[in-house]
Amino acid sequence: MTRKHNFNPGPAVLPLEVLEQARQDLTEYGSKGMSLMEMSHRSKTVERMMGETEELLKELLDLPDGYRVLFMGGGASTQFAFVPMNFLTAGKVGQYVLSGSFSEKAFQEAQVIGVANVLASGIADKWQKLPELFGFNPEAHVAYVHLTTNNTIEGTQFRNLPNTGDVPLIADMTSDMLSRRLDWTKLGLMYAGAQKNLGPAGVTVVIVREDLLKASTDARIPTIFKYATFASNDSLYNTPPVHTIYVMKLMLEWTKRKGGLVEMEQRSLERSDLLYDVIDRSGGYYEGFAERASRSRMNVTWRMRDEALARQFVCESEQAGFEGLAGHRSVGGLRASIYNALPVAACEALADFMQDFQRRNG
Ligand SMILES: *Cc1c(COP(=O)(O)O)cnc(C)c1O
Repeated sequence: MTRKHNFNPGPAVLPLEVLEQARQDLTEYGSKGMSLMEMSHRSKTVERMMGETEELLKELLDLPDGYRVLFMGGGASTQFAFVPMNFLTAGKVGQYVLSGSFSEKAFQEAQVIGVANVLASGIADKWQKLPELFGFNPEAHVAYVHLTTNNTIEGTQFRNLPNTGDVPLIADMTSDMLSRRLDWTKLGLMYAGAQKNLGPAGVTVVIVREDLLKASTDARIPTIFKYATFASNDSLYNTPPVHTIYVMKLMLEWTKRKGGLVEMEQRSLERSDLLYDVIDRSGGYYEGFAERASRSRMNVTWRMRDEALARQFVCESEQAGFEGLAGHRSVGGLRASIYNALPVAACEALADFMQDFQRRNG
């Protein structure tokens, strides 16, 4: 097999080492006489595997004490509803930072459940520039502040987390979890669908500060929609996606072997610099979508003179072995998603291709 240069936005590239290990373990796990997929989720083997995955994630993130890791289903979109269901109690307001289309979806779900308003918005800048977050003065009736740390579709990313004082900060980190170090103590809860940086689709990681679990015990929330249910049952209240969690564990082990968060952060800088350099040196041929200070290290977005040329770029890139470079339909142009598992060499190849394409079609 010739592996493509996989720039898919999610589900996304996984390391070949991880796939090969998963294949090896597919028919028999350990020497148990069966695969993980056939095993009871109540078995010691599965319980241990999930416990080890949780510990590994805590270790990689260097998470302070007092946080729980939950493994849930339904993807990040389900968390858009889970968050207000658990925390948006009567008399309280959820405040949303709008920075792109996923943050808007989260905000819409909150409005279905309770009262939510906009703390800051980048819509007037057409999502090309992130809203400023300094000077936040929380009021007593604010239940939480919701932030999308990396805007996957638009290609923008917050460099730092805002300080929200006593108000819990809740972050959708689906497309940049495990790519950099941040001050986790600023966060009350973070969530990520696994299919970008963490592993295959099918599991959502939720990291929540323990004191917030008390807030989510309202009797009117169905049992299965309470964070507290997942926490008190070690994510085994009902059947979790066992095999997916295992492949994520392999991905976490790979991340550790390669040098952990420090190395992932370094690689993300190298990968994104390669592409932004070509964009910036192209004399406007490639026009970066995000303004410089808002640029993402995970999704690099740019436009071309017109959409016909962008389509030609996608078409020729596919012939040259690149996959997934078409921009999201809401933004147009091109997008290179450059998650943890993407080799730096893939970005070197893409940078070369971009320069060559410009020479041929400038
Ligand atoms: C991909 C993505 C989502 C949607 O994730 P699903 O798991 O498909 O629901 C939400 N937020 C962000 C930031 C994403 O990148």
